[in-house]
Formats: sequence, structure tokens, C-alpha cells
Amino acid sequence: MIAVVAERAQDETRVAATPETVKKLTKLGARMRVESGAGVRASISDADYAAAGAEVGDLPSTVKDADWVLGVRGPAVLDLAGAKQGAKVAAIFDPFREKHTVEAYAKAGFEALSMDFMPRITRAQSMDVLSSQSNLAGYKAVLVAANLYGRAFPMMMTAAGTITAAKAFIMGVGVAGLQAIATARRLGAQVSATDVRSATKEQIQSLGAKPIFVESVEGIEGEGSGGYATEMSEEYQKAQAELVSSHIAKQDIVITTALIPGRAAPRLISDAQIATMRAGSVIFDLAVAQGGNVEGSVPDQVVEKHGVKIVGYSNTPAHLPADASALLARNFFNFLSAFWDADRNEVVLDEEIGDAIRLTQGGKVVNERLLG
Ligand code: NAD
Repeated sequence: MIAVVAERAQDETRVAATPETVKKLTKLGARMRVESGAGVRASISDADYAAAGAEVGDLPSTVKDADWVLGVRGPAVLDLAGAKQGAKVAAIFDPFREKHTVEAYAKAGFEALSMDFMPRITRAQSMDVLSSQSNLAGYKAVLVAANLYGRAFPMMMTAAGTITAAKAFIMGVGVAGLQAIATARRLGAQVSATDVRSATKEQIQSLGAKPIFVESVEGIEGEGSGGYATEMSEEYQKAQAELVSSHIAKQDIVITTALIPGRAAPRLISDAQIATMRAGSVIFDLAVAQGGNVEGSVPDQVVEKHGVKIVGYSNTPAHLPADASALLARNFFNFLSAFWDADRNEVVLDEEIGDAIRLTQGGKVVNERLLG
């Protein structure tokens, strides 16, 4: 029995299953229950879930005797009362920041499986919630910045005169950054981008944008395990700050996406650098919830400094609830179906993926990344 719960967090609009994935999981042999109202903010009604084969009810009846619970964020342990002893709960637990939730799961004896700890291996790509959500976040960040910008993105030649194209600078070219480049280009901006991983140079060029890279510091790769960035040396950080200073003064739109797993986001833009930008420019800080790449950015607020608008959502994918839910639900489905044991009619995880995402088991915190 797989239960899908509604999200309690105010800023959470997404849902972990859609009628499409409910139908597919039912077809595999799972019994599906969905909490009433779970899909409302993603434009999915209770009737849609019922038509797909789910039983729809209130929270206690949804989680009662569940073997599995799916949530977008880790549901509160109190909300899981009635689920089976040792039930598996799959969600985006954000374990480095939500340590007390992880401890509460251990204490309650539930098995927390963190979808955001999915290993970056080829066969897990379709289960990777960070990628599916970052892609949408990169797109949304550009649209929000374009809306706040008092000018147009494309060059326009009109009878009344010519408007010059906006200059957009994307800092951090992972999944979100690549989509931000593509979106800003589609809107007609002149785009440049930077990253610490030299492998991204070619990707930036292939999207028609200009790479801006620190060339003065030797021996820099910047890529750690799983394709993630590493923290950079002081020498590099100084060279990067100089590069940003000379480039940013000419930019109208800046989208920052830089993250380092398990650490606070690297600071990429200082207040002094913002002061050199033209009034009316817009910065979107996609890392605002992880401490921010931009000095002065505040989650879910538009802050104006030196005439520059600085914005960042604490949960950007939640601003595209329907598509974010559709992709997230497919990540959950791809995960559950990959491990579906038809004979036992249940999910049986293997070691490689199971150990990577399992946070708690048998009353203890068991994940290496949290213990190490
Ligand atoms: P991320 O969200 O961890 O970070 C965003 C970007 O910020 C990264 O490109 C990172 O290099 C960059 N960054 C970090 N510190 C920086 C700094 N000081 N200055 C400038 N940039 C900085 O990264 P991500 O979007 O998850 O992707 C990282 C890589 O992993 C990409 O190449 C992506 O294609 C790859 N990836 C692989 C898989 C898989 O194989 N399953 C899944 C997802 C992503």
C-alpha cells in the first residue's frame, strides 16, 4: 500500500504523484491511496486521482497501514501515525538542513528515503529530483527577472527607434544554469555564463552564449564527485571576484545558481559589485534558500539595492506546480518501478541506490553522508 500525502508547508504547491503515475503504479500491482486535496495546488482534483484508481480520503485513513508514504517534503512524523511499523517514506528530505526531521524519523522507527540523495549514476538519472526541478527553476528564474525588468530582452528596431538587447549573465552552469541560458537566449538576450567546472565551457558555447572564465589561476578543475562542484581555493575566489567585477557592471540581468552539496552556497556577488550595475537591472538568486550567492538577497522578497532589484524564491519549482509535480511524480514512479518485485508485489531496493538514499532505519540514522 502506497500512500500519497498532501503537503503542509505553506510554500509547497507540488504533489508526489499524479493521476498518470497512480495509474501506472496501480498497473504494477500497488494499492494506491491519496490524501484528499493533495493535488489541488497542482490543478489535480480528488476525482482525477479516483478515476486513476486511487482511494482518496483524509490523512489518517490515507496513511493507515501504509508500507510506503510519498511526499514532496518529508512529512512530519506526527502525520504518519497509523502507518506500518518501519514504513518507508520517500520525499525530498533536504537532510543537511533538516537534521531534526531526520532524527525524528529515526526515533519513530520509520525508514526515510531521501530522493535528493539519489546517486548521479546513469541508471538513476530518471529518478533524479534535483535535475528535474532545477531545470524548471532555471526557466522560471529568467521569466521572473524578465518581468521585473523595466526593459525588453530582445533588440527591437521600431519606427520610433531601436531598443538594444538585454545582457544576461548566468553564474553556475549546472542543470538550472543551462536552462537559464537557453531561456534567456530564446527571449532574445545576449547571454554570457561562468562556472568553476571547465567542462561547462563547451556547453555554454553550444547554447550560443559566451563563456566567462577565470584563466589566470592554474590547475583549476572545480569538479568533484558526481559532477558536483568543489569549494574553490582563496586564490581562485579572488580571481573570480575580479572577473565578476569587471563583467557585471555591464550586465542587465544576472541569474545565480551556484551550489556546493552539504555546504552553504558560495558568495558570488557583493554589495559593492551590485553598486556598479545600471539602475533597473535585476538579479535572481536561485541559491537564496541555501544562504544565497548574492549579498543582500532575501528569500521570497524583492530587495532593491543601488537601484538594482534582487529576488530569489525559497522554492522556485513550486512556482510551476503542475509541471514540477508531473516531473517529480515521474521521478518517484521511475524509482519505485525500477525496484518493483512482481513476485513479492513490493518494492525491493538494491544496495547501491538504497544505501545512498536511506537516511534512517531500525531506529538509527544510517546514511554515510550524515554520519561522516
Ligand atoms: P549544482 O546545482 O550542485 O550547482 C550548480 C552549478 O553551480 C554547478 O554547475 C556548479 O559547478 C556551479 N558552481 C558551484 N560553485 C561555483 C562557483 N563558486 N562559481 C561558479 N559556479 C559554481 O549542480 P547541478 O545542476 O546539479 O549539476 C552539476 C553537474 O552534474 C552537471 O554537469 C550536470 O549535468 C551533472 N548531473 C549529472 C547527473 C547524473 O549523471 N545522474 C544528474 C544531475 C546532474
